[in-house]
Amino acid sequence: MKEVLNSRLMHPRDQIAMIMGRIYKRGLTTTSGGNISIIDDSGDIWISPAGVDKGSLHPSDIVCVKKDGNIVGNHRPSSEFPFHKAIYEIRPDIKAIIHAHPPALVSFSIVREIPNTNVISQAKHVCGPIGYAEYELPGSVALGAKIAKEFTKGFNAVIMENHGTVVGGTNMLDTFQRFETLEFSARTLLYGKLLGEPSYLADEEIDAFRKQIPHLLPEMEEVSYPSDEREKRQEICQIVHRACNHGLMISSYGTVSVRWRGNDFLITPTDVPRWDLQINDIVQIKDGKREPGKMPSRTTYLHQEIYARHPEINSIILTQSPYLMAFAVTGAAFNVRTIPESWIFLQDVPALPFGIQFKGRTEIPEILSQNNPAVMIRNDSVLVTGDKLLQTFDRLEVAEFSAKSLVMCAPIGKMVPISNEQVEELRSVFLRG
Ligand SMILES: [Zn+2]
Repeated sequence: MKEVLNSRLMHPRDQIAMIMGRIYKRGLTTTSGGNISIIDDSGDIWISPAGVDKGSLHPSDIVCVKKDGNIVGNHRPSSEFPFHKAIYEIRPDIKAIIHAHPPALVSFSIVREIPNTNVISQAKHVCGPIGYAEYELPGSVALGAKIAKEFTKGFNAVIMENHGTVVGGTNMLDTFQRFETLEFSARTLLYGKLLGEPSYLADEEIDAFRKQIPHLLPEMEEVSYPSDEREKRQEICQIVHRACNHGLMISSYGTVSVRWRGNDFLITPTDVPRWDLQINDIVQIKDGKREPGKMPSRTTYLHQEIYARHPEINSIILTQSPYLMAFAVTGAAFNVRTIPESWIFLQDVPALPFGIQFKGRTEIPEILSQNNPAVMIRNDSVLVTGDKLLQTFDRLEVAEFSAKSLVMCAPIGKMVPISNEQVEELRSVFLRG
């Protein structure tokens, strides 16, 4: 199984190498750009080296700058060490820092704007308010001072003018999640702007999202883990990791569930970073009760309702992917009549208002059907259903690809959908009954 990050027990050098590899693979840094550090309990700072390939960084490449200034390691520390040090000095609560030049945040930094994180439900809470540091020479003490000043104001994420971003957190998990969510918000805004004007959630709507109660179900007294149950845990973890690796899910948002027996199911927990999900994090829901000591997703009731009402649905993915979210935040019509595959897999995908996913609302289970296997929730997510989990995942991929084609075609011309006649022909050949 894929290695997951344990920020409490893994050595700083292992954490830094792992997260650098992850952000490189996701296209969030270049071979030479970006640097990551951790300060440990003794005050030593572990940091990525200067001039080493970020695509294949090994734990042994990580440099330690001791509290007394001595350097231990096989390389020189990153040239941006001064601003990492300045942040740790001024903010003792910050224990990990990521700096990079991810393309969407650089877009904001070169037009000298801060992305508005109210664009998606969880981003404001995950990122906090965003600071802005004016341009200074890379590696200079002056740059360190400008950035540290922003962190003094309480910001944990800062846009660096004509440069990139720097993000801090209480540990590496927290920091990576903030970094990834901020870049995701920026991408959603940029792609959304190609389609129309993004709309933003009011602070009260974001608070309502946070206040959804995750543990509404009573705990079960006894719990057993038959082999078919364990198999589904594994299946969920693999799909979540695959979704993260392919840009179809981010650390801070996403729920996956699979029907187990009858209306019992397994579901991902709340507030566990998705990249680092493990089989013991998955929550069993049986006879309307939850596995003791675990916090299932805030949307558990929604999954429960869907399984109860739709015997044909055996798996559900609720997630944010950048091109689909461009539609979800602008309300632009997501016309899947692009190519036969898209229409066959998705048919028409309705966009529903924010808040409709909260407990007590029944619209989503009512709208879902054989003809509506997927729905979009404004400024929140896309929800995709299906039989086998891999089929549902495939449907999500097709949806994201279709959204991407629609966003990308905007500058070259107006999309010409396949005709009603062609749709009817597809229906009669591929969707009999
Ligand atoms: Zn830089």
